[in-house]
Amino acid sequence: MDGKIETQYPYLSDYLFLNLLNTTKRQRSKRMDFLVDNGGVEEWLKLMQQLKLLDFRQVEKLKELPIDASELQDFRVRWRGHLSQLEISEYPLESLAQYVKQVPLYFDSQLTPIPSVGGTAGLLSLVSFEMLRGAKEDLFEKVKKCGSAPCYSFFVDVSGKRKWCSMEVCGNREKAKKQYLKKKDSQAQQQQ
Ligand SMILES: [Zn+2]
Repeated sequence: MDGKIETQYPYLSDYLFLNLLNTTKRQRSKRMDFLVDNGGVEEWLKLMQQLKLLDFRQVEKLKELPIDASELQDFRVRWRGHLSQLEISEYPLESLAQYVKQVPLYFDSQLTPIPSVGGTAGLLSLVSFEMLRGAKEDLFEKVKKCGSAPCYSFFVDVSGKRKWCSMEVCGNREKAKKQYLKKKDSQAQQQQ
């Protein structure tokens, strides 16, 4: 993703579900929650549309019913937990399948999945469908938590070598920190 869209997110993924899990960040030692702060779910949907991860018809459908931020927060907490575990033999995919069963998706001529019902259940069905598709391709095994301690973002590490969600924000912060510590260290050595 090239950072052309102005946001307060440290990182935006090419995956809808990761962007949902990444709707929280630390700001001045406080936890900020994009699902309730900064325009809440409405703004998040708009952003996903700008990123072309949702299209106009999907968003229109989702907006037909209210979207409950607290249900999305529950989903986020659960899956951030699952993906944070280093050793997990099986992800609870059945719980994802339940969301899709509850709100079946239909496909338009471009094979875009449209939930049959909007609102919270519709959004969780769409997100779960993406996750189930990803799980088939072992996507979850490549999901990593950003190596920069103050950052809460998850990202997909395709190369297996990536440490940070984004070079611009977290990579540079970590580099600067390393340089600062190195400088401090050599100054301390000179003084000895
Ligand atoms: Zn990060």
